[in-house]
Amino acid sequence: MNNNIGPDCSPGFERQARYLVGPDRNNRWIEVRGDSVVSEGVGTAPYIDGATVIPCSSGVLLDGDVNAHTHLYSGLAPLGMPAPDVAPENFVQILQRIWWKLDRALDAESLYASAAYYVANALTYGTTTLVDHHESPDFIEGSLDVLADVCRTLGMRALLTYGATERNFGRSEAKQGLNECRRLIQQNQNPDLVRGLVGLHASFTVSDETIRDAADLCQQLGVPLHVHLAEDMADVDDASARGYAGPLERLAQLGALVPNTILAHGVHLSVAQVQAAVANGCWLVSNPRSNKGNRVGYGVALHGVKEVALGTDGYPADMREEMLVGQQEASLHGCSEHNVPMRAKAGQMLIAKIWGHQFGCGVGQIADFVVREPDGFVSQVFVGGRWVIQHGKLATANHDEIRFAAHEQARVLWTRMKNII
Ligand SMILES: [Zn+2]
Repeated sequence: MNNNIGPDCSPGFERQARYLVGPDRNNRWIEVRGDSVVSEGVGTAPYIDGATVIPCSSGVLLDGDVNAHTHLYSGLAPLGMPAPDVAPENFVQILQRIWWKLDRALDAESLYASAAYYVANALTYGTTTLVDHHESPDFIEGSLDVLADVCRTLGMRALLTYGATERNFGRSEAKQGLNECRRLIQQNQNPDLVRGLVGLHASFTVSDETIRDAADLCQQLGVPLHVHLAEDMADVDDASARGYAGPLERLAQLGALVPNTILAHGVHLSVAQVQAAVANGCWLVSNPRSNKGNRVGYGVALHGVKEVALGTDGYPADMREEMLVGQQEASLHGCSEHNVPMRAKAGQMLIAKIWGHQFGCGVGQIADFVVREPDGFVSQVFVGGRWVIQHGKLATANHDEIRFAAHEQARVLWTRMKNII
């Protein structure tokens, strides 16, 4: 009897399916059963009864990439989002004139199209986990279900949250945002692939009461917080104006720095503040492309810290590209660019802490892995027990239909966005 040869083309999820992947160009092979790597070796692969062989002699088996901070809601932005009528001159104006208009223009249909476009492309880049931070102020309740549905359908591991804020409609808006986090976390029947966190937009758009509410919710549900922190000096200045030493100290004093909290950016933190965040069990996420694009500064204090992961902050989830820009920025600011690759490792550690499992292509790990060719092309991606990319193509849905819907919805979205004052 021979092993079956070739990729399994069935889109279905087979928990007990067995695969022998490899040997790869380094002569390494792994055996996958269900959603786990159960054995590995170097050299000629053994015969395993009932296993489908997935050859990958030209590529290399690697752990899937983690994008530790992003925004699925801005997935349509590369498809012709119009520039604002008056060019922004600072970070807050960028938010007010672009992103805070885009998020208000979203409805369920455009959000689905945006998330599907972003997630499908992310999988083709070899990104297998997204840590998303969502906001759609005119469509709050049910918005995280849209994102969860996309991730489960396409096969993306994801940590989802709603970034509660008071910037449009005050405290009631913040309460709705926190309720949406609670709803997803409590109703999530299948936490294998998608999990919920509590979210705040940023210290500078919420009151002390909302931060306390978020802290209470974290304690009640036993989950961490995901929040933008010290991305721009505006956040730092706001915290001082409210009588705090900084936004980090504000979150700490109000009880919101629970273990495994994800602090996105941290550009304007000192070395002592970064150490304090890490001592509280928090993770930081550097987003070099976004920080460069928004001209908010560079987080020198994050260098050499092993709890700093890498995110794209809404840019496409090509982590190799993000790392490249990270290395260029590090070099420009007199930091060692060799520190940047360790951020990929931090992303893996972060999700392992939150799920309580290791993910990757090693024995005993949940099998989230990719086969990457020497030119960077990702030929195979396996997540949560199924093949999601086969021969470089999305295997869980029709990518062309996703692209078409994205372009259609983008046109409608840009018109709605223009009409928002
Ligand atoms: Zn962000």
